[in-house]
Amino acid sequence: ALRDNTIIVVLGASGDLAKKKTFPALFGLYRQGFLPRDVKIVGYARTKMDKAEYHKRLSSYFKTNDDPEIIKAAEDFKAVSTYISGSYEEPEAFQVLNSHLEEIEAGYASKEANRVFYFALPPSVFVPVAKNLKEQCYVANGVNRVIVEKPFGKDLDSARELLSSLKEYWTEDETFRIDHYLGKEMVKNLLVLRFANIALGAAWDKNFISNVQITFKEPFGTEGRGGYFDEFGMIRDVLQNHLLQVLSILTMERPVSFSAEDIRDEKVKVLRSIPPIAKEDTLLGQYVAANGKPGYLDDDTVPPNSICPTFAATTLWIHNPRWEGVPFILKAGKALNEAKVEVRIQFKDVTQGIFKDIARNELVIRIQPSEAVYLKMNAKTPGLYTRAMPTEMDLTYKRRFAEAKIPEAYEALILDALKGDHSNFVRHDELDVAWKIFTPILHWIDGKNGARPRPAPYPYGSRGPKELEGFINKYGFKRASDSYVWPVTNLA
Ligand code: NAP
Ligand code: NAP
Repeated sequence: ALRDNTIIVVLGASGDLAKKKTFPALFGLYRQGFLPRDVKIVGYARTKMDKAEYHKRLSSYFKTNDDPEIIKAAEDFKAVSTYISGSYEEPEAFQVLNSHLEEIEAGYASKEANRVFYFALPPSVFVPVAKNLKEQCYVANGVNRVIVEKPFGKDLDSARELLSSLKEYWTEDETFRIDHYLGKEMVKNLLVLRFANIALGAAWDKNFISNVQITFKEPFGTEGRGGYFDEFGMIRDVLQNHLLQVLSILTMERPVSFSAEDIRDEKVKVLRSIPPIAKEDTLLGQYVAANGKPGYLDDDTVPPNSICPTFAATTLWIHNPRWEGVPFILKAGKALNEAKVEVRIQFKDVTQGIFKDIARNELVIRIQPSEAVYLKMNAKTPGLYTRAMPTEMDLTYKRRFAEAKIPEAYEALILDALKGDHSNFVRHDELDVAWKIFTPILHWIDGKNGARPRPAPYPYGSRGPKELEGFINKYGFKRASDSYVWPVTNLA
């Protein structure tokens, strides 16, 4: 449940994450009445700003659409927002922050005081900030929580080091590690689709499923922000965290309950059945200039001759009785032909005989944009023939749930953290196995054990390297015949 007497402190309040995600999500929750009663929101960063300047910035982060109600809510939000500037390293600076928090708390009717600290900070200051908060800003009569976000290290060793440093100050119970994919509506929906539908559940294994693709596609390149990206690459940016999270929920056994630990126990169990990815199961790419669009190396913020992958496909195998032999292809790329994140589960062929070469069933769960779940299935061609044709059972959210507002991932997650619900946050052992699966190929790509692999070039705006089709087909994917056409409507 939500606790009264709560202060939310956003550290790094002057930064990009705070601007794009944290404050808009806090405002969205505030406006809809989901924040604790009498909540106060305190920004903290080194940048010097007076109240007027800070409030001006906050205003620029909110979309009000000239709606008087939203404008009023934004004014109210600012009235509960204050800002303190100070360093991340010095204990004295956090004493100043603490005095400010105590001043607010002096006005409470009861002794209870709760503090939630949101780290919108670069990882280089995670540890000093965690230490200073614990030593200078920790309350005795209430809960203290920290919300942190990737990157959690760059490989298994560095992740373990960072996590154990943070654990010196903050317990697992107090820590909320964000992977914002776990806040997405369609990712949460996976649990319901799987476990609330006996027909889907019954077909959910190696006997019926041929292969699975979990795909992330972005239609733009680094566009001047390549410095950060080049240090991490596509695998650390998307596969090792977001897509692997989707995979674990898609493949875990049914949890005993929806409690956080029951769910996370099952996720860890299935991840532990996945061996490290083999080089042979990896395809890397880097985009090059095409159609007037620049290549990755044309970005001035990218080191010349970088061989950082901007596209990666990796195939994972799960060694348990349910999934033995089923390939799970995780693939992600920048500067591709479209924006899309989806799960595509391809079922096996029906027994041949009465039918020949008919399309396979596919269950597609589109996470974004335009949420949808559709099952590609065969039906009799209408009319006086007995011929099967590929068609679909379709659940398009915009049509079926026209009135529903799908919450932003960060809204859902911040609300969970305020309630103390860990279900949609990453547990330390989950992170540890995730790194075990990816660290060997990351070290290979980084040249730790010899020559670095060269990514295959692909044109900006294409589906990826030309090797992709062969790579996918190698794992048994069969593309439905071209006769499948989706009737275009303005909803799709
Ligand atoms: P950012 O804008 O670079 O940094 C946030 C704030 O931290 C800055 O406004 C700055 O505030 C301070 N800062 C920046 N560099 C620093 C340094 N070298 N030493 C000390 N302080 C520094 O970062 P961000 O994009 O908001 O990202 C914050 C965290 O969220 C990172 O871990 C990032 O990986 C993660 N993340 C970001 C996004 C996104 O969309 N931006 C998405 C997912 C995850 P002052 O100078 O005022 O102190
Ligand atoms: P599809 O075009 O039949 O299949 C897409 C799959 O084929 C993806 O795995 C894609 O790979 C791959 N592919 C696409 N072009 C290819 C090519 N030239 N060579 C080899 N492989 C290729 O699409 P679908 O999802 O089954 O549906 C077709 C269209 O109908 C889509 O636009 C979809 O949005 C729409 N539709 C919408 C709904 C809905 O909104 N509810 C329901 C059903 C269908 P990559 O993804 O890796 O590129």
